[in-house]
Amino acid sequence: MDLGIAGRWALVGGASKGLGWGCAQALVREGVHLVIVARGAPELEDAAVQLRQQATAGAKVVPLACDITTVAGREAIFAQRADFDIVVTNAGGPPPGDFRSWDRDAWLRALDANMLTPIELIKATVDGMAERGFGRIVNITSSSVKAPIDILGLSNGARSGLTGFVAGVARSSLAAKGVTINNLLPGAFDTDRLRATQAAAAARSGQSVEAVAAARRQAIPAQRFGRADEFGQVCAFLCSMQAGYLTGQNILLDGGTYPGTF
Ligand code: NAD
Repeated sequence: MDLGIAGRWALVGGASKGLGWGCAQALVREGVHLVIVARGAPELEDAAVQLRQQATAGAKVVPLACDITTVAGREAIFAQRADFDIVVTNAGGPPPGDFRSWDRDAWLRALDANMLTPIELIKATVDGMAERGFGRIVNITSSSVKAPIDILGLSNGARSGLTGFVAGVARSSLAAKGVTINNLLPGAFDTDRLRATQAAAAARSGQSVEAVAAARRQAIPAQRFGRADEFGQVCAFLCSMQAGYLTGQNILLDGGTYPGTF
């Protein structure tokens, strides 16, 4: 299926690896021009080389190494270009822990990265999208918004704040002007982040990393972890012309883990 977005410009955060990389890959294969962001320049340059090899329809790939959660980082992005048609908001998730150990600064860091940064990116781009009559925002959040994870209280809290904000703004006057805003909620995807949380869980419990991973896999009806490329393909669909009537939704990609009917 041709998604009808070749020649559009997309900003993809956290794009050197993991879920952001999966989204960048799926979009560039659709002929979408990319500005890709991550903090580490060498990894980001490698990612850009690989993405250019997969590009169709002459899609360009512009790497920009910066911290997207800072004002300076976002200024650098919008100095590069401001008229994005597609924005995939994504950065690293907050650390796990016991809420008793989080002080105000820990909360502010989580809110900055996982709530206020996506809101700033939305604020900076949606009015231009509306003027041009087309726009797609996809926020990478977490299944923890629907089913909180005890040790990820910073994520549960910050991302729920973003989810509430998006529910309102997606239904504003932007909806009539071709701008959709949706959240993609990953369950367990096989990325560096998942491997790091499993290593931490193994260290805490004294089990091997393999045993922790096997137990987690068995708890997923699909009996496997998700892949970044399949996450990216759903993201590309949300950015497509075909998805123009889909807005304000929370799309869970978790291999059937969430047990509810709705
Ligand atoms: P990852 O660690 O594999 O990749 C994160 C990417 O973001 C990297 O490219 C990294 O360089 C970049 N990044 C991190 N902080 C950044 C910053 N401040 N500025 C710019 N770039 C930054 O992580 P992932 O598994 O792809 O996760 C992506 C998001 O999805 C995270 O917020 C994570 O918490 C969330 N999530 C992941 C899973 C999972 O199973 N992988 C599940 C639920 C939620």
